[in-house]
Amino acid sequence: MIPQQRMQYRSTRATTERVGFSRALLEGLAQDGGLYAPEAWPAFRAEDFPESTELPAIAAVFLQPFAAGDPVEASIAAAVGEAFDFPAPLLDVGPECRFSVLELFHGPTAAFKDYGARFLASCFARIADPDPRPVKILVATSGDTGGAVAAAFHRRANISVDVLYPRGLVSPTQEQQLTCWGDNVTAYAVEGTFDDCQRLAKAAFADPALRQRFKLSSANSINLGRLLPQAAYYAAASLAVWRRHGTRASFIVPSGNLGNVVACAWARRTGLPIGEIVLAHNANRTVPDFLATGEWRPRPSLATLASAMDVGNPSNMERLRALYPDPPGPASAVSAYSVDDHSIRDRIRQDFARYGQVWCPHTATAAEVFERLPDAQRKDRRWVIVATAHPAKFAEIVAPLIGQELAVPPALAALFSRRASASTLEASLDALRDALH
Ligand SMILES: *Cc1c(COP(=O)(O)O)cnc(C)c1O
Repeated sequence: MIPQQRMQYRSTRATTERVGFSRALLEGLAQDGGLYAPEAWPAFRAEDFPESTELPAIAAVFLQPFAAGDPVEASIAAAVGEAFDFPAPLLDVGPECRFSVLELFHGPTAAFKDYGARFLASCFARIADPDPRPVKILVATSGDTGGAVAAAFHRRANISVDVLYPRGLVSPTQEQQLTCWGDNVTAYAVEGTFDDCQRLAKAAFADPALRQRFKLSSANSINLGRLLPQAAYYAAASLAVWRRHGTRASFIVPSGNLGNVVACAWARRTGLPIGEIVLAHNANRTVPDFLATGEWRPRPSLATLASAMDVGNPSNMERLRALYPDPPGPASAVSAYSVDDHSIRDRIRQDFARYGQVWCPHTATAAEVFERLPDAQRKDRRWVIVATAHPAKFAEIVAPLIGQELAVPPALAALFSRRASASTLEASLDALRDALH
């Protein structure tokens, strides 16, 4: 690898502002409202990585140059070791390994968001900010993100987390994951929709009174500290395929806000052996339509079985466009399919019958896209289906389709045994100001 002097991040919008790794993590969003992306890319070769296929060992090498010149550079390996304390197995499925599955759901809340949230938490613990006040993380969630963030920051010193979720609009499993923590985590059931929660969080960040009382920070999926660790599991998986089969890995990624897919594209940009990147969307077609027509038409989201992907205006599109600025833009580098609820159900049934493989509704979109690939494309490449959540998180959907109960992983079971509590909150800034402490 070519040694890196100092890694700087710049906004997808302005070209002037530059910040280092720690600052980009603490700020979340750039001053101009854009998203941070690396200004330059490290260039890796397979030989730069240890022989070990263990994720923390590979992630430490991969992430180091992204913190080059930053005060936390020396503690990246420790942060990775602490955050990635659960495996990301790559399993071969079907006769003659028809495809592989990258299981990203073995963390505390049984979905891939644990990687990003836990890495961000272990970095925050190592960043010395001149402002000594405790950090208050405010997170608006439609279900999944809030649980991963709460789990990652639970009982961390000098940090508190306040989760805003729409009352009555999250699944019982999700609600338990948001409300079971206590200690430094407070859950608010907001009387409104997810959009109201997001509006409240934004208003809080802009409120002078709150900014004076608290050092507010965000941990949502546009934070660079959540994307980079996700790129690390693509590095590890592509190296495993390279060493096992001598070919590049092509990934099919269940996508909503496009964080996971940007992470994959970033890993490819650093020279890792990644072939094609294919996005699997649910009935929310904004991205597939854009790639087909070149017209960017964000729209309200539709509710689907793969609810964590119900996004009509994906914010990380800005990063994908910044990565491929030359015409025809992202369409030159990725492709996308849309899968409706009917096909999600069918795919869950069929792949259970055929392989004994149980998909969550999100992962099922990727499994369906694999079947829809043109024959030659499917056979010529080595495909990896990215499994984003454990099916037991969506047992009410999956169990009836496969005709049997699902085994609940220990991490989820532990979380269900905790006592839940939440306060209801009127969807107004005044109410939020009074509630926060
Ligand atoms: C968040 C989520 C997705 C979508 O990921 P993006 O990074 O927003 O594209 C897919 N599947 C599951 C289970 C998720 O929680």
